[in-house]
Amino acid sequence: MTYTITIEESSSKKQKPADHELGFGKYYTDHMFILDYDKGKGWHSPRVIPYQPITLDPAAKIFHYGQSVFEGLKAYRTNDGRILLFRPDRNFKRLNLSNARLSIPELDEELALDALLKLLTVDQDWIPSSEGTSLYIRPFIIATEAALGVAPSTQYKFMIILSPVGSYYEEGIHPVKIYVESGYVRAVAGGVGNAKTAGNYAAGLKAQEEASEKGYSQVLWLDGVHKQYIEEVGSMNVFFKINGKVITPALNGSILDGITRNSIIELLKQMGITVEERQISMEEIYQAHQEGTLEEAFGTGTAAVISPIGELHWRDEQLIINQGETGELAGKLYETLTSIQLGRIEGPKGWVV
Ligand code: PMP
Repeated sequence: MTYTITIEESSSKKQKPADHELGFGKYYTDHMFILDYDKGKGWHSPRVIPYQPITLDPAAKIFHYGQSVFEGLKAYRTNDGRILLFRPDRNFKRLNLSNARLSIPELDEELALDALLKLLTVDQDWIPSSEGTSLYIRPFIIATEAALGVAPSTQYKFMIILSPVGSYYEEGIHPVKIYVESGYVRAVAGGVGNAKTAGNYAAGLKAQEEASEKGYSQVLWLDGVHKQYIEEVGSMNVFFKINGKVITPALNGSILDGITRNSIIELLKQMGITVEERQISMEEIYQAHQEGTLEEAFGTGTAAVISPIGELHWRDEQLIINQGETGELAGKLYETLTSIQLGRIEGPKGWVV
């Protein structure tokens, strides 16, 4: 596909927040990227424009049937001023997998990455540089056709917006308390659990809200059929260290193929640690905890990179893991992966762009 990405520079630049004010998803940069799709014409008119509201017809399909997909990744500024992305090709590949599941037309991955690089070049002054800060990147697609019939939209918009974000761990990596959810389910195999689509997140809010009221920061999702097998934790993949081995749920169709998950598996293998990707029941975790062989548990995702789990609440019992402290392996993986992402150490070929 041949294309030219046009750039319309904003004439009024916003005031940038100080790094300590950032938080998550509160501020947006001066520009955004936008690309249109019309049936018969395909994807067209790639352009970087000033960040602005969009106008949609109230009948646009996104509002009624939730036909949308998104991605999340980060750009980091290194000490020597370079701008690094971590495995962005995998985000656009995953976006297309989500597209396929949601009947959204495939996107040219090369164009998407090119668009991101252009947008980052225009807004590079927005990438914060204090320790732990980054520029969060949100590519997404919405169905824009004004038609209430339940059928794939004939029009879409692909956009990329950027948000400078603060350090996830202001006071260093620390463990979280997790509520094992035995009532609500997030997804089932055959559904859309392995797609990054809006409805999955809407469906998770209620359980998240109730867990939060009980003092837990996230829920651990169980499978939708038996409510027995472990799936994910909040919007992270999950790992357990039992008796020296690391176990993580296999990609079974209802969990997201996390880029951090994939990277952690690779790093563990390089460290000579056995990793099993398989079905794992809550009962097995409980037994391991009773026997004292459950050494560590942690979540993985773009936002926190590694989030150690200090406590699991399951069936009225509190399972305290590693005395509620960050495990040695979780700490080491966090250190290694963030060092690779920040270009401080060399990672596997092609990970850092
Ligand atoms: N599971 C879900 C449901 C998520 O939303 C995310 C965040 N994208 C993850 C897992 C972790 O994926 P990644 O490592 O690619 O951020």
